Amino acid sequence: MIYCVEDEDSIRNLMTYALEASGFTAKGFPDSVEFFKAVAEKKPDLVLLDIMLPGKDGLEILRSLRSDPATAKIPVIMASARGTEFDKVTGLDLGADDYLAKPFGMMEMVSRIRAVLRRATPATVAATLGFDGLCMDPNAHTLTLDGASVVLTLKEFALLRLFLENPGQVFTREQLLEQVWETSYVGETRTVDVHMGTLRTKLGRWGSHVRTVRGVGYRLEVQP
Ligand code: CA
Repeated sequence: MIYCVEDEDSIRNLMTYALEASGFTAKGFPDSVEFFKAVAEKKPDLVLLDIMLPGKDGLEILRSLRSDPATAKIPVIMASARGTEFDKVTGLDLGADDYLAKPFGMMEMVSRIRAVLRRATPATVAATLGFDGLCMDPNAHTLTLDGASVVLTLKEFALLRLFLENPGQVFTREQLLEQVWETSYVGETRTVDVHMGTLRTKLGRWGSHVRTVRGVGYRLEVQP
């Protein structure tokens, strides 16, 4: 969940629209009051924070977030008009994870968000994942089957990782598209089946643990 704090309605709507189109869930807030109410209910994965806001400005919001242990680690990207204001902000080292100079394109915004999220997550990842001789190291991006190394494509790796992190859970094709391809375009569900097919083949005897749940999707069964 990405929270966007931006007082200009048209920009805020564009941001949340672009994020949702890229597979994220997003909520927009016009000021700090609404934003802090939402944070108290559900902490976001990342905050996109405009600096010039009515009431508390973006810098004050950032300071509040950083000073509370419950919210101190939430990644924040600051957005601000190009020029002196922006230079001042970036020079201050206020503890934001990144800065976007306005005006920025939605593609740029989404790729910056992805980059910050990628940097933010590794610390929480378990060292290795696996069962019964299958061993995945998500950090080193390696997979071994009974000690023999197997090469997976990026998508196959991401699919298997998702299953290993959630054994027994059924994923629909739509969910897999959203989480692995970061798209929710329903017409592409066939892509999921193709990748699941090649993944199973590469997994050899472990492939049979990846079950098709008829009419629903796929599930990893770790118990025989
Ligand atoms: Ca503004």
